[in-house]
Amino acid sequence: MALRIEHGDITKYGVDAIVNAANSSLLGGGGVDGAIHRAAGPELLAECKTLGGCPTGEAKITKGYNLMAKWILHTVGPIYNENRKDECEELLKSCYKNSIALALLNECKSIAFPLISAGVYGYPKVEALDIAVSCIQRFADEMDTVIVLFDAEAYEIAKRNYSELIA
Ligand code: ADP
Repeated sequence: MALRIEHGDITKYGVDAIVNAANSSLLGGGGVDGAIHRAAGPELLAECKTLGGCPTGEAKITKGYNLMAKWILHTVGPIYNENRKDECEELLKSCYKNSIALALLNECKSIAFPLISAGVYGYPKVEALDIAVSCIQRFADEMDTVIVLFDAEAYEIAKRNYSELIA
């Protein structure tokens, strides 16, 4: 098992699958979703249109098109709500668990994850990272995995709390 944390842009990773923090329409959005659609090209949106959306906590797979990654695992994180912390936590865990299950089903040996829900969806970054690390360690034990942190704040948290996972 190898999990590492890096500061970077997930669209540049040549892994078997990258995870997209999508919205439930799967028709593109801002943040990492927008970056993935721009880098993968218009054929990605065409395939996404055939999928009929995706409920929060679940995951769907498409090809990677112009990305170096072979597959994209689209998962929909919860919109953070402090009054429903437990529910948000369960849904965020499901995102990691279901993405990893879909990767295994498609014989992926390497996956790159963004910090799901920790952008526009407002999940506190410290908690989002704790959930990411524990779920990936638990469910993706056999795979080569990386959490790709795009923003400086998230990367600072990782350096502080998970220095052993920083390359
Ligand atoms: P969500 O709606 O699930 O919060 P966002 O895309 O707004 O999704 O943010 C999720 C995380 O992805 C944030 O931590 C954001 O900084 C990060 N992010 C944005 N662009 C990229 C990228 N190109 N590569 C990796 N992570 C990214």
